[in-house]
Amino acid sequence: MAHSRIVPVAVEGMVALILAAGLALAAPPQTRPPAKAPARPRQLITLGFSPAAARAERQVEEKFKAIPSAEEARKHHRFLTAEPHPAGSERNYQLALYIADLWKQQGWEDVTLRRYDVLSSSPREVSAQMVSPIQYQLGLREDPYDVDPDTKNPRVRSGYLGFSASGEVTAPVVYAHSGNPQDYELLRRNGIAVKGKIVLVRYSNPYSYRGFKALTAEREGAAALLIYSDPAEDGYSRGKVFPDGPWGPASHIQRGAITYDFLVPGDPLTPGWASVPGARRIPVEQAVSVPKIMAVAISWRDARPLLEHMDGPKAPKDWQGALPITYRLGGNAVRLHLKVDMDTSVRPNYVVEARIGGAEVPDEWVLLGNHRDAWEFGGVDPSSGTASMLELSRAFGALKQQGIRPRRTLVICSWDGEEYALTGSTEWGEQFAEELQKKLVAYLNVDSSTSGPNFEGEAVASLAPLLVEVSRSLQEPSGASLYRAWRASSGRARRAARSARPVTDANLVNTRIGSGSDHTVFLNFLGRPTIGLHFDGPYGVYHSMYDNFYWMNHFGDPGYRYHRLMAQLWGVLALRLANAEVLPFDFAFYGANIRQFVAELDSANHVQQKMDLKPLLDRVTEFEAAGRELNRSEARALAAGPLEAARAALLNQQLMQVEANWLNPEGIPGRPWFKHILYAARYTYAHLELPGLTEAVEKGDWKTAQEQAALLERALVRNAALLREASANLERSARAAARSNLSSKGVKP
Ligand SMILES: [Zn+2]
Repeated sequence: MAHSRIVPVAVEGMVALILAAGLALAAPPQTRPPAKAPARPRQLITLGFSPAAARAERQVEEKFKAIPSAEEARKHHRFLTAEPHPAGSERNYQLALYIADLWKQQGWEDVTLRRYDVLSSSPREVSAQMVSPIQYQLGLREDPYDVDPDTKNPRVRSGYLGFSASGEVTAPVVYAHSGNPQDYELLRRNGIAVKGKIVLVRYSNPYSYRGFKALTAEREGAAALLIYSDPAEDGYSRGKVFPDGPWGPASHIQRGAITYDFLVPGDPLTPGWASVPGARRIPVEQAVSVPKIMAVAISWRDARPLLEHMDGPKAPKDWQGALPITYRLGGNAVRLHLKVDMDTSVRPNYVVEARIGGAEVPDEWVLLGNHRDAWEFGGVDPSSGTASMLELSRAFGALKQQGIRPRRTLVICSWDGEEYALTGSTEWGEQFAEELQKKLVAYLNVDSSTSGPNFEGEAVASLAPLLVEVSRSLQEPSGASLYRAWRASSGRARRAARSARPVTDANLVNTRIGSGSDHTVFLNFLGRPTIGLHFDGPYGVYHSMYDNFYWMNHFGDPGYRYHRLMAQLWGVLALRLANAEVLPFDFAFYGANIRQFVAELDSANHVQQKMDLKPLLDRVTEFEAAGRELNRSEARALAAGPLEAARAALLNQQLMQVEANWLNPEGIPGRPWFKHILYAARYTYAHLELPGLTEAVEKGDWKTAQEQAALLERALVRNAALLREASANLERSARAAARSNLSSKGVKP
């Protein structure tokens, strides 16, 4: 999946505006020159480095950035996209071996293939015929084009949805718009029941995960679900269609999984533990993430005859799509015969893992990952990310050959089964949970690297300032800094969305992290900080066979310059985290973000009328103040020169503990696997902040809301104390250093 398909629903209005303006002040004050000082060029590296170490870091980064090549990325991309390579397929296994070999050649260490035996789902037979009022056989196939030989590959499969139930039914068809609960409410108000019927819904804009449509249809008692791509969302009404443009043609089909992995991701039969060969497995009937409804993905060309022949009331205006017909609610006239036969068996998935051992702090890890499995060719999703990753790994191998090792250990992973249930990363994270909780500094995820030129970065709030700082060190193909290009494209996007929020450094990074990609296990289950990177653009062929090499070379990134830029950006971020003397977390910024989350929850739900949020907000203020104090102590200590090694080690362990302290071992109510109390995802994959508290408030369950607020308060108190202790240690060591400095000069302290 591509996380950027999830459009964050920004909460706008004056509250957000005022808070965002306040956040701009949260940047560490020490990075700003005094008001009357002569203008100096901006220091590119300030967070976590003493001046001397920053100069050395700069040189390493310059060497690193010179290595990735657009032409090499293109070659990797051609190879990766040559054949369909879904999870569990022979081709995807071959690609795992290819990546493992390449990493060995490039100089990576401990290259290992990890096997997980997971419940899989692939189609044996999918067929659909309209039986009344006319006969029509749905094609369920995508058209080939002469200009693009890949579209004639006989191994491309028909439209299907991963983890659909198997079965056969003949039933009337009802049109249910996006298939959200309120859509079924509207049908009910029109006297239309869906029980036992086949529901036709469209992929929606903003994107919401298809698994939620399936769960909703299942709860409504529908017999089956058809999901189609309306041209209003990703077809001709957006612009030119494939092969003449980037949007989806009439026959394109958005495949995908409908797994209920918002309840628990990973292998459905091993929820919460690793599906290594021989692991204990629960019976499939007990697996909450496996849907019980049949579901099929279809093109608008196959949906049109169904929509055209429907009876019943005219659908409301916002339910009308871009087809030149009147959309009706249906319910009687159109009957469909549907058969789905899925092969659901346990099959191996493979994660490839490698590392470059850290020269000084080998037991602190920076992890980089990208998934390898694709619905078909995976031009954007995920092979653009894999191509960038292979250039990044080549560059790290080359640095190592020049004798340059990072201070901390770099770990790199090629995940499998992401498209089904975030499976490979989840199983790997569960297998190494204990070690990762101790050692993992941060996880840097790239799913799709490139579908256009517009950068989108998301990060846990403590790492957002680092991402902004790093973006100033990189050059965009236009010649501008990535930072400037990012601000410009974010500004355009916000104006297009009629957002009142101006772009500032404080809100450039998306700090509202939902699910839908491989960061999920690290953030939500293990409590480790994550960053996600992506270049976005017009992209209407997501999860279809047209998401391929031709598409990338004509529309997405014809010169592969953004693939190269991604390799540079991803690598420089990894270097910054791996080499920093003090880990570059900004907890003052984190605190300001948490305050904003609380304010937004209150303004959306009028919480203060039912419960007092002041104690929670007071604890946030204390945490934020402790974060500001620590930022100042760190800046003073680093300005005085390199930190003594033992002091730095203790400090960094304390800083790493902060994210872990946001975990509640019980999980959020009803979803025990999701343990982070600041971040989770809604069933649609959309971001959900303060999940336990928010869900309780939205349900009006004030008892649970009080309990969840108390949990947040306790974690904030714990973390504020931790930050104050870290500041005190730093100040003590600064005084000790000053004393020894003075005595070495023969001055009595
Ligand atoms: Zn993906």
